[in-house]
Amino acid sequence: KIVFDQVSKSYGSVQVLQPLDLELNDSEFTVLVGPSGCGKSTTLRMLAGLETITSGEIYFDGKPIGHLEPKQRDIAMVFQDYALYPHMNIAQNMSFALRLAKVDKSEIDTRVKRVATMLHIDHLLGRKPAELSGGQRQRVAMGRAMVRDAGTFLFDEPLSNLDAKLRAKMRTELAEMRNQIDKNMVYVTHDQVEAMTLGDRIVVMSDGVIQQQGTPEELYKTPRNRFVAGFIGSPT
Ligand code: ATP
Ligand code: MG
Repeated sequence: KIVFDQVSKSYGSVQVLQPLDLELNDSEFTVLVGPSGCGKSTTLRMLAGLETITSGEIYFDGKPIGHLEPKQRDIAMVFQDYALYPHMNIAQNMSFALRLAKVDKSEIDTRVKRVATMLHIDHLLGRKPAELSGGQRQRVAMGRAMVRDAGTFLFDEPLSNLDAKLRAKMRTELAEMRNQIDKNMVYVTHDQVEAMTLGDRIVVMSDGVIQQQGTPEELYKTPRNRFVAGFIGSPT
């Protein structure tokens, strides 16, 4: 279980996140949703250790992790602005971190195959990124994180570059995949439909503040304020 205890973030004199409390339960799919600039990526990056926390502490099963390097945290992240290695084929892109970590070759092959099948890119493993569509590349970026053996996976708007049709398809596939993976998942999006279909729990943010957190049903039926109601599409 991951707990944010009064975690805030400032860049210089500008406070972009007010002190926030957040609990991410094991084996849950949590969606952080909110308008552009509200602090979603910053929240993920602090959890991954890519950004310092200005005040407060993050706990992993009760242990403070704020001082740990990204590598010391049991976390894999899919970035909002991912980049694939153009000179490597898809299998090599996906296995890059595992090869660095000197994981056994047969183990790497097994994991790459399994994740590629789940993401429907198993027929593309021998190709280079330039030979893939945008949607296929985005799946490779997800696959690259998912082959890693982490307890927590962070996704920062993984479908943002896709057209509406492909987004809808990927959303359905992700919803299925989510049930096959018994991991902590934190998923950032500004799309309320994605939040409502994918989230076990949804955290609604705006302007560096958590407006409300709860199940999709709770947020829909009992939105705390007009912002949440408007964002979630509740009939108030
Ligand atoms: P989007 O949906 O557009 O990705 P977001 O919710 O992920 O938005 P963040 O990237 O977390 O938003 O940014 C939150 C706020 O912090 C924004 O106002 C942004 O301009 C600011 N910010 C982010 N990184 C920095 C930085 N390195 N220096 C100064 N301000 C920053
Ligand atoms: Mg962002």
